[in-house]
Amino acid sequence: MKKIEPTMINLSDRKKTPPLDLEEDHQVLVAAMADVSMALNNSLHLDEVLDKILENLAKVVAYKTANIMLIEGNSARIVRSKGYELLGTKEMMMSKKFDVNELSNFAQMIATKKPILSYYPHLEQDWHLLAESEWIKSHITSPIISDDQVIGFLNCDSDVAGFFNKIQTYAMQIFASQAGLAIRNARLFDASTRLGKKLRSINDLTHQVLEATTLTQIFNMLPEKLIDLLEGTNVYISKWDESTQTVTGWAATGEFKEDYVYGKSDPGDRTLTKEILETQHSALVENLDQSHLMDKKFHGLYREKSLFCLPLIAEGMKFGAIIVGYASPDLVTEDIRSLGEYAAMQISTAISKIHMLEQERIQSSQLTHANALIESLSHVSTAIKSGVDTNNVMYTIGMELELIKIHSMVALRVGDSDNLMLTYSSVQTKLVSFVKNLSKHKINEIITPIDSLPLFREIVDSQQAEYLEHPEEVLIQITPPIFKPAISKLVEALAITKNTKCILVPLVIEKKTIGILSLWGESLQKIDSQAASIFGGQVAIAIENANLLQEVQRLAITDELTNVLNRRGFDEVANREFGAAKRYSRPLSLIMLDIDRFKAINDVYGHPIGDEILVEIAARARTKIRETDYISRYGGEEFLILLTEQKPENAKTVAERIRKSVAEQPFNTSVGKITVTISVGVTGANSQISSISMMIKTVDKALYKSKENGRNRVTMIDKI
Ligand code: GH3
Ligand code: MG
Ligand code: MG
Repeated sequence: MKKIEPTMINLSDRKKTPPLDLEEDHQVLVAAMADVSMALNNSLHLDEVLDKILENLAKVVAYKTANIMLIEGNSARIVRSKGYELLGTKEMMMSKKFDVNELSNFAQMIATKKPILSYYPHLEQDWHLLAESEWIKSHITSPIISDDQVIGFLNCDSDVAGFFNKIQTYAMQIFASQAGLAIRNARLFDASTRLGKKLRSINDLTHQVLEATTLTQIFNMLPEKLIDLLEGTNVYISKWDESTQTVTGWAATGEFKEDYVYGKSDPGDRTLTKEILETQHSALVENLDQSHLMDKKFHGLYREKSLFCLPLIAEGMKFGAIIVGYASPDLVTEDIRSLGEYAAMQISTAISKIHMLEQERIQSSQLTHANALIESLSHVSTAIKSGVDTNNVMYTIGMELELIKIHSMVALRVGDSDNLMLTYSSVQTKLVSFVKNLSKHKINEIITPIDSLPLFREIVDSQQAEYLEHPEEVLIQITPPIFKPAISKLVEALAITKNTKCILVPLVIEKKTIGILSLWGESLQKIDSQAASIFGGQVAIAIENANLLQEVQRLAITDELTNVLNRRGFDEVANREFGAAKRYSRPLSLIMLDIDRFKAINDVYGHPIGDEILVEIAARARTKIRETDYISRYGGEEFLILLTEQKPENAKTVAERIRKSVAEQPFNTSVGKITVTISVGVTGANSQISSISMMIKTVDKALYKSKENGRNRVTMIDKI
């Protein structure tokens, strides 16, 4: 190539640069470079740095146009230019992309990292001619190098052939290396500023997720924050259920967010979440349509073809995944990747924290429950010790449970039969009016065969407690037939809401189901079933003990042979009734009867036959009196009958009926029919009688009179 001396160029708007003497030029250049270097390093903002590069280049090299090109991928673009304005080509030049591999000058510079001086660019075969560049007669281009990489080019053009020389080329080279440094610093600064911002925002995010106390709080804010942080188009957060091995949505952004949140996978489906939870690493899906990481049916859930997926795992628990959609996989830079991984780690920790809080909350509420049940139990056992009756035990239990907002009901088996009787309910008042409206029966008169209540049948037989998540749905199965037409009213009477849960507990004593305890309330949980079973066991014991106690007490006042009150029992009730009658001036009468010639009966048929007759006398007498009257075996073959609210005249009628029922119907004994008669005395309380024993003495007198007058008769003494 022939060297041509550059000539002066005459452009009014720029400094004239005379041809340089090598030595002198060198001095000028060194001085200029010192200035340039300072100017370039004065700023850390890329925009300013790029401006300064061209401004300062003019101090070193005269040019008609100059530009800075930066390489992105395989192409270079002009990012700053000078001089194109005058030629009217600025817009065109600035919008052009130059393929660095196709253009031999660029390819050469990338390989050699050396500038190229073109005296006659048109004539060079590797000069890629542009119509807009046709005016160029002389050209220097120098690679801009940063960290040993060509990141761009610095170009100077002149319309004078042979304008540039080697000195200028050398200056350009030094200048380009200064520019490379300045650009690198600016880029680093820019990156670190961006990173700083990111770090601040990830710090904020970390704080906020860790401060959240519910998952809802986290998922309300998270998607938008993640979009900001990870610069994606949309964010999708999936929830993994380890027990069913399925995925649902937790949160998402974008117009199809609902589809995502309500979508659900089936066990065995291939999903991104499952995949990355298995590998436990983030993954970049570059082209969703070609990805085998998930079943095709899920592709539609995502708007983007490029997905960056991050597992949410903490403390060995798999929670789900964060999936960020991008317009292009290139957008997921190293920075984004590491920020994403950091964020996912923090979010997992936050979820795990909330998860543990939740567990703790559940456990402590279970403890509260358990404590309450245990406390109720201790009260129940007090009730047992204090020897109250069955009703009292059930009342105590019911009130204890109401304190922890649990309603209760006890249905007991009637004796050994296969019938249940509603014995107690803590919602008794509501229930009473419900039953009253429905039938003429009283609550405890409603006796229902267990077989008509399928669920109760099952519990009675299995002796296992049953937890009902939605009791109203099965209420029909535990409701006596007469309630069934008004089931919705019953739901109301029982205070059952849509949140009410129920536990049905068999009351088991010595392998026998004596009844069913129903517990219901909004605070009940499945986990309570076990405690409820233990509770049920205690309740059964309490009821049984109360029953036993009642039986013992009953036995203490009952005549074993005839099953009527014994003398002690009679004295107790008689004193009470006598006092009440006196106090309220109410009538009260007393009947005494004695078997005639009973000694002879014993002598003829034997003592056991005499006993049979005693039993039968008591039974016959009982049919002639009211529920509110009391009969007792007061002596060997003497009976006393106390008639409340009855004047002696009426009592005499009753006595007469009893006498007749004995005398007129021979007794069927094991040795055949025996005719028995009784003698009867009657008296009533009056102002002259001041105690029950006085009354007994009087009635005894009346009886004696009957004996005296020939037996098998009734005598009344109503005045002393
Ligand atoms: P009456 O009263 O008519 O004058 O003649 P009585 O034979 O009934 O005479 P009394 O009342 O004096 O006799 C009571 C008899 O009742 C004595 C005893 O043999 C009989 N007796 C008392 N207690 C029992 C009992 O628990 N079982 C049986 N089988 N007999 C009894
Ligand atoms: Mg007698
Ligand atoms: Mg007698």
